[in-house]
Amino acid sequence: MTDSQNETISTIQIDETMTVGTLAEKLMIPVTKLIAELMKNGVMATVNERIDFDTAQIIVDELGLGVKLEHASEDDTSLAKHRTSRKQAGKNGQVRPPVVAVMGHVDHGKTSLLDAIRESDTAKGEAGGITQHISAYQVTHGDRQITFLDTPGHEAFAALREHGAQLTDLVIIVVAADDGIKPQTLEAIRFAKKADVKIIVAINKIDKEGADQNRVKQQLSENDLMPEEWGGDTIIVPVSAKTKEGMPALLDMVLLVADVEELKADIDVPAAGLVIEAHMEKGRGPIVTALVEAGVLRQGQYVVAGTTYGKVRTLESTNSKALQEAGPSTPVVISGFRELPEFGDEFRVVATEKLARTTVADRARGQSRTTASGISTSGQLMQVINRNIKLQELPVIIKADVKGSVTSVIDSLKTLENEEVSIRVIGSGVGNINETDLHLAHSGNAVIYGFNVQMPPTIKRQAGRDKVRVRLFSIIYELIEDAKGELSNLLAPEIVETELGRLVVKGVFKTTKTEVICGGEVSKGKLTAPALARIRRGKETIGEAEVMTVQKGPQEVKEAVEGDMCGLQLKTESKIELEEGDHIELFTRETVARKL
Ligand code: GDP
Repeated sequence: MTDSQNETISTIQIDETMTVGTLAEKLMIPVTKLIAELMKNGVMATVNERIDFDTAQIIVDELGLGVKLEHASEDDTSLAKHRTSRKQAGKNGQVRPPVVAVMGHVDHGKTSLLDAIRESDTAKGEAGGITQHISAYQVTHGDRQITFLDTPGHEAFAALREHGAQLTDLVIIVVAADDGIKPQTLEAIRFAKKADVKIIVAINKIDKEGADQNRVKQQLSENDLMPEEWGGDTIIVPVSAKTKEGMPALLDMVLLVADVEELKADIDVPAAGLVIEAHMEKGRGPIVTALVEAGVLRQGQYVVAGTTYGKVRTLESTNSKALQEAGPSTPVVISGFRELPEFGDEFRVVATEKLARTTVADRARGQSRTTASGISTSGQLMQVINRNIKLQELPVIIKADVKGSVTSVIDSLKTLENEEVSIRVIGSGVGNINETDLHLAHSGNAVIYGFNVQMPPTIKRQAGRDKVRVRLFSIIYELIEDAKGELSNLLAPEIVETELGRLVVKGVFKTTKTEVICGGEVSKGKLTAPALARIRRGKETIGEAEVMTVQKGPQEVKEAVEGDMCGLQLKTESKIELEEGDHIELFTRETVARKL
């Protein structure tokens, strides 16, 4: 990847997508400059976020660097190439198992379905009882394999997509037969369509009273997913995660779609794939779950991922079986990394330790650092860049049980941003809420969001004392809703004006710098005080004033209605010379809180 750096800077080769950090590095400009330019163009991207070739070209043009970007050459063996061409592997490409994600509305049965699938695994041996959070696993159905990814919430799919649209080949969208399509179902459909992955709909809970498959099919057809039996091409499988009815049919369909798609991968290339989870384990160091996408990964090889590297010390399946090697679509657990890579980082086998070290050193330049407490501080960078931008920010600290969840939460929160409000992650990390988090939140006025983590009682007391806002959730949807509320509070309130009525001026009795007293006829609506007034002459507005009193004759009245003759006492900021025939429009102005 360093090939182009010594060439003339007129042409630079880049991949189809690349991180902002990598591009800055290739252009040899400070990453802050690149991010600022992206922001100017409406792209809010952090160092590790990916942008595509076209965006990169536009930004480079805007920067006026005199640089031309070119797609990396054909013999580039980088992962991005494998990824974009995963469906059209080289001529030696071998059939590989499909990679499937399950998404749907909360409580529609994603977890139950994944559990049922795991139980149905025909190759489920006695090995390694499954006890904890597993982010990916492979099951055998008949004599074939299927890889399932368990995402902490389907909002995470947005994140997955950013980290590589091809991570999943197929999405099973779960819809509860007794509940029908809900907002998150629609979101899931949208995500899947945007990422251009195949969709299978599992109508779940068909055992339940009130289950109405036809209604769900009707709703699906209204959302561009016409069931096959109605002449469309959407595969729908009725299932019950509870009674297991329909489960084999569902897996059959997954394999059928895989066959139609002819999913293949090269195996004669250096192994490469994506990190889908990373956490520290006492005595073992960084433990990384990754999905092999191409090539065959073996114990003892050197791997680079993001800005860290390691030698594969142990290679296991996600249910703790030792593996000698792992081919495409296999989720694996690797130990031997020096540090924790990030969720979504590409990993790639390199030939020697030296190469691993230099690749990582190259990449580390310009990337955000991690403090001793394990909290990344790219927020500081954002602060510098955001200085010129009129954005309201919600500073947050994200803590979660595993690294994949941290990234998913952050990426999901990012989807809430718009041109007015943004999320600023001033810290993030794996583990329970601790004192460092509180300090950071206190000084940065941040909200701490915990996902699947806890807050020890002493920390809770301290948070109360310091008035630090800590919110703990185990359902990502609820966390997002909470953040939505917080962001809504930052939105500038809407100003709503309501017209009350109008007066046509017939006489002016007193004019000073700060006061006008006039009389006339109410031509429309109702005049009351206090109110605001806009004075118009023809089409022009000549001033604004406050209405202090409404009078009929010498008497102050509550209101005057259409047709009444009345007087107005106006308070003005500067002298307004009223004339007969001017119109005075009375209105109220309220600020109304807005919602995201
Ligand atoms: P998730 O939020 O989508 O992961 O949903 P869960 O898997 O946690 O399921 C939500 C609730 O629905 C739980 O109480 C499950 O026991 C129940 N449930 C899931 N699948 C079925 C099913 O097929 N039949 C019935 N009767 N209940 C189900």
